[in-house]
Amino acid sequence: MDGQPLSALRDLFGERLFTSREQRICYSYDATGTMSLPDAVAFPVSAEEVRRTVLLANEHRFPVIPRGAGSGFSGGSVPVQGGLVLSLERMDRILSIDTENLVAVVEPGVVTETLKEEARKRGLFYPPDPASLKFCTIGGNIAECSGGMCAVKYGVTRDYVMGLEAVLGTGELIRTGVTTVKGVVGYDLTRLLVGSEGTLGIVTKAILKLIPFPETAATILAFFRSNHDGSSAVAGIIRERITPCAMELMDRTAIDCVREEADLPVPDDAGCALLIEVDGPRESVSTEADRVEQACRQYGAIEVGRAGDAKGRERLWTLRRSISPALRKVNPVKINEDIVVPRSRLPEMMAFLADVASRRNLKIVNFGHAGDGNVHVNVMISGTDEEERRRADEAVSEIFGKTVALGGTISGEHGIGISKAPFLEMEVGPLGVSVMKRLKGCFDPNGILNPGKIFMEEQMAQR
Ligand SMILES: Cc1cc2nc3c(=O)[nH]c(=O)nc-3n(C[C@H](O)[C@H](O)[C@H](O)COP(=O)(O)OP(=O)(O)OC[C@H]3O[C@@H](n4cnc5c(N)ncnc54)[C@H](O)[C@@H]3O)c2cc1C
Repeated sequence: MDGQPLSALRDLFGERLFTSREQRICYSYDATGTMSLPDAVAFPVSAEEVRRTVLLANEHRFPVIPRGAGSGFSGGSVPVQGGLVLSLERMDRILSIDTENLVAVVEPGVVTETLKEEARKRGLFYPPDPASLKFCTIGGNIAECSGGMCAVKYGVTRDYVMGLEAVLGTGELIRTGVTTVKGVVGYDLTRLLVGSEGTLGIVTKAILKLIPFPETAATILAFFRSNHDGSSAVAGIIRERITPCAMELMDRTAIDCVREEADLPVPDDAGCALLIEVDGPRESVSTEADRVEQACRQYGAIEVGRAGDAKGRERLWTLRRSISPALRKVNPVKINEDIVVPRSRLPEMMAFLADVASRRNLKIVNFGHAGDGNVHVNVMISGTDEEERRRADEAVSEIFGKTVALGGTISGEHGIGISKAPFLEMEVGPLGVSVMKRLKGCFDPNGILNPGKIFMEEQMAQR
């Protein structure tokens, strides 16, 4: 980006435009650790400023990369071709919470936990709960269609987005969707924008569905000897027609990472742990928790614990919550994938992951939202050994191939970004890619928005 667009941006943003190297470094990476310096960073406070920015970008042909908190796990907000990072963090107002119609209207920079807490104060529930909820933003959640622990029962971000306001790649401001429970007028542009990773439009406002907050909950922690027993229990519980609000699985490698730090006794022979939560009306929670315990024992649980009060439940959850920070201590570099398979195929997938790790002599730590078949596969590498990196890349490719063969998907919630772009066609096929590219051309004919993402090579070639 040369002097002319920069001076136009300075006129628009004044002190809300960052250009120093130090400032730009802060906006050059996401949670993947991939870095690429932007030419500048701007902080809009209104949809009109976003619109004028995109018009300028079309005039001077520079990339615009929308950014929330930069917590993405696929490189989505990394400015791989330079350009302007547009940080939506200052558009962070909750505009309204309508307690009669159970609808919230928010700006994109609202931190997910803030919305959940404000809804809770009114007896309402905004269910999407990515583990990053203390810092990630609603805009980022919408762009990635984020999930979380309770997706197994309550669904993902997509299920709570009723309508959007967004600036398209052309600089036009569009309003999509409805504020009503129903609405089928024309194509569902809201659903198309959700999960589009900032490549079709920049979300400037969201209309979100809320539901009543569940009366109570109970948490069960069960240890099994093997992944096979634990993942069979997952399929068994679903077959029993129980829908927990969370069903998290940790394999032996994940348990070993947190064994020391967890504030609970972990059996020496534990090869797999399941953390299961049920919620709803008081009477049904107690019965469902009994049935979950029974099912766990039936599938070979060696120890089962249960907590009904908030403090006890939180204690059980520490086991799961300590994994991500513990992994960083064990190995600072990891290749983090989030495959999903049909739940009934989970035992087969877990066995396959163990086989890949042993065949390729790699440490692979697996945990995740097993209730929806979503496994976070973490290939731990030193980061300095090229031969090990090659083995890790081959392992990822093999794991994706198996995932698709089992009828699964290569990303349940982290998106394609740059890290999975080479594998897009493996799952959606050439026609799928072609139709997606045609849609991209319609929303963003000059390739302004977040180039280099989803369809990496094509976007690079355009510039
Ligand atoms: C410790 C940790 C735990 C995590 N746990 C989970 C989890 O359980 N479930 C899960 O789904 N994810 C999880 N994530 C991943 C990440 O937090 C989510 O993808 C989150 O939604 C990203 O939000 P963000 O505000 O940080 O967005 P960013 O990382 O800044 O951006 C992500 C993408 O959204 C686009 N974008 C951002 N704002 C807008 C906007 N207003 N309009 C259009 N596009 C926009 C960006 O261009 C980029 O493509 C985790 C990450 C970390 C670090």
